[in-house]
Amino acid sequence: MRRSDPSGPVVIIGGGFSGSMLAVRLAERGIASSLINRTPEFGPGVAYATPFDGHLLNVRAGRMSAVEDRPDDFIDWLSRHHPGHADAAGFVPRRLFGHYVQDRLAAAEAAHPGRIDRVVGEAVAIESDGVRLADGRVVPARAVVLATGNPAPRMAADDSSGDRVLGDPWVAGVLARIGADDDVLIVGSGLTMVDLLLQLTAGGWRGRATALSRRGLLPRAHRIHHEVPTDPTPGMVAGPASRRLGDGRRLARSDGWRAMMDGLRPVTADLWRAADPAVRARLLRHLRPWWDVHRHRLAPVVATAIDGLVADGRLRVVAGRARRIAATSGSVTLHWTPRHSATPETLTTGWLIDCSGPGHDPARSALTGPLLEAGRAQLDTLGLGLALDADGRVLQADGTPDPGLFVLGPPARAAFWESIAVPDIRRHLEAVVTALAG
Ligand SMILES: Cc1cc2nc3c(=O)[nH]c(=O)nc-3n(C[C@H](O)[C@H](O)[C@H](O)COP(=O)(O)OP(=O)(O)OC[C@H]3O[C@@H](n4cnc5c(N)ncnc54)[C@H](O)[C@@H]3O)c2cc1C
Repeated sequence: MRRSDPSGPVVIIGGGFSGSMLAVRLAERGIASSLINRTPEFGPGVAYATPFDGHLLNVRAGRMSAVEDRPDDFIDWLSRHHPGHADAAGFVPRRLFGHYVQDRLAAAEAAHPGRIDRVVGEAVAIESDGVRLADGRVVPARAVVLATGNPAPRMAADDSSGDRVLGDPWVAGVLARIGADDDVLIVGSGLTMVDLLLQLTAGGWRGRATALSRRGLLPRAHRIHHEVPTDPTPGMVAGPASRRLGDGRRLARSDGWRAMMDGLRPVTADLWRAADPAVRARLLRHLRPWWDVHRHRLAPVVATAIDGLVADGRLRVVAGRARRIAATSGSVTLHWTPRHSATPETLTTGWLIDCSGPGHDPARSALTGPLLEAGRAQLDTLGLGLALDADGRVLQADGTPDPGLFVLGPPARAAFWESIAVPDIRRHLEAVVTALAG
């Protein structure tokens, strides 16, 4: 970015948790921002806008403070507004967290009038001195932060999406067309699949579901009581990757895998950044599915509900690779290949829902595609996202960081790996604030 006016506002694209809390923290430091969101609902973003009370946080309330230096902020807020939920070890409805973020944003606006400018619109281009919206307006910027969250999955969108294919599982009301006795096929067996099944069953759905994922793994569950994280052993954070894995396994056996995984949390981003591309590639290829199901866990009550569906024969999880979708007017057929097999098979049901995970692809995004073409950004070597420096600044094609262009939240995963959940985002957010304040 060319800093046309160094005293001008920081433009934040995305008014979900990441963008809203960044605006709050900047306002507290005396920095003005324009916060752009495509809808007038600022704060909850995709994750916390759900009105359904069965959609619970997958992180204990005590770890969900939106502010890095006030660890009890969310619990204190719950004590004041929803005292029945103010249990640090509990898993509260996600919509409450959405209200909390909205409150934090409104409080910052009241305390620092004029420092946060809400702009409703679709950001379509990052230009040298501002951000262009779809309606032609240009929001002037001295720096831009991309906090655009998780894009919709791409698997179904890339295929022949008929009207029996539900391509974006995060769109409100997406399940409304599914009949009470309809069977569904879900591509993906992670947290989004779980979300959809909870919502379907709460609405009286009696059908059966087949979930397909590469390994056929389901997310593991949290324990009811908080597990105390175990610090990683020295062997887990240095030396060859295979030895680190061995040390991790030993620690998991002695102290429990949950304690081992949680102990890795604070150092994961540093370990990821320190790893060379070959090690990162091996992690993605071999470890990622296991990492995901042990790291992104289910609230115990949710795990019980999913176990019940499996026990009743209403949820079957199969391992394999989706190949092609063929949709007709009354059904949809998925061509797939089972894991460890070369023989293609088909699955035919009433509906296919794409829960294959966020379709991050900076080269195809209207915002970042032109930056890549112009050499103002580069992809990381594994194609996970834009390459960034340790503070989240976009690295240009020549390797130098752009001092006025940052990425925060899920799209920063190439640089930090763990940039998805609130505890990680709020930490990265402080680095962005410090960089912008400097
Ligand atoms: C279903 C779900 C449940 C989750 N549950 C948890 C949980 O329990 N605990 C936890 O720690 N994490 C959870 N997460 C992780 C979640 O990613 C983060 O907690 C956090 O919500 C990410 O916020 P964000 O602002 O980065 O992204 P988002 O919430 O996706 O917000 C991005 C915003 O940017 C807007 N936007 C995008 N592009 C543009 C554009 N071009 N112009 C204008 N506006 C744009 C979008 O409309 C959206 O409002 C969950 C994620 C999902 C998807």
